[in-house]
Amino acid sequence: MQATADFHTHTVYSHGKGTVEENVQAAIKRGLKTIGISDHGPGHFFIGIGGINKVRQLRKEIKSLQQKYPQIEILLGMEANIVDVDGTIDVTAEMLAELDYLLVGYHKLVRPRSMAAFCLGAQNFTAGWLDLKPERLRQQNTAAICAAVERYPVKAVTHPGLQIDIDTKALAAACIKTGTLMEINSAYAEKLEDYVKIALRLGANFIVNSDAHTPERVGDFSAAYRLIEKVKIPLERLVNITR
Ligand SMILES: [Zn+2]
Ligand SMILES: [Zn+2]
Repeated sequence: MQATADFHTHTVYSHGKGTVEENVQAAIKRGLKTIGISDHGPGHFFIGIGGINKVRQLRKEIKSLQQKYPQIEILLGMEANIVDVDGTIDVTAEMLAELDYLLVGYHKLVRPRSMAAFCLGAQNFTAGWLDLKPERLRQQNTAAICAAVERYPVKAVTHPGLQIDIDTKALAAACIKTGTLMEINSAYAEKLEDYVKIALRLGANFIVNSDAHTPERVGDFSAAYRLIEKVKIPLERLVNITR
C-alpha cells in the first residue's frame, strides 16, 4: 500500500511539535503528493489555533512554502471542534473562507457555546472518566456530530468515536448521504476497529491520516495499514491509498 496524501497533521500553530516547513519536508521524504496542515480549531482549550489572524498567517506561510517546494501540494485545513449540541463548530465563516478543506473532530475540553453544550461536555467528561456509555448521552452526541456533517462542507470526520461515544451507524449514514469521508486515524488505529467494521459494512468511504503531532509521524500509516489488512478494506474505499 502506498499513501498519496496525509490530510491530518498538526504543527506549532496548535500543539504539534514541528513547524509547517518541517511537516512539509517530512511529507516529501515519505513520497506524498499532498500534505495537509490541519491544526485544532480555536475552541479547543489551551491548544486551539488563535483566531483569524493566525489562520491568515498560516495561509501566508503555506503560500511561500508552496513556492519553495513545488514538488508537493501543500493544503490548509483545520480540525474543527463541535461546540454546541446543534453541531455548531468553532471555525467561523471568515476562517472557513481561508481553508482548502475542513475536518471535524469530536473532542473533549472545548469551549462550549451554550449551557446545553456545557452540560453535554461535562457529561462526556464524566462518562469517559467512569468508563460509562449511557444511551441518552450517546444519542445527543450522535445528533451533534451528524448535524455538523450536514451543516458544513466537511471533508472528513476525524477518529470517529475515539473520545466521545457515538452511534457509528447513524454517523456513517450521515457521511454517506453528504459524501463525507470517515477517517482511519493511524495514531489510534487499534481503538477504532469496531467503528471501521461497522462503517465498512454500511458502505462509507475512508481516508487514512497520521494525526501527526511531530514531523517524524507525518505520513506514518503503519498502524492503519495493519487495520486495513485485518478488516480487509478494499482499496477503492480508501481515497488516498494506492497499490
Ligand atoms: Zn483529534
Ligand atoms: Zn488531530
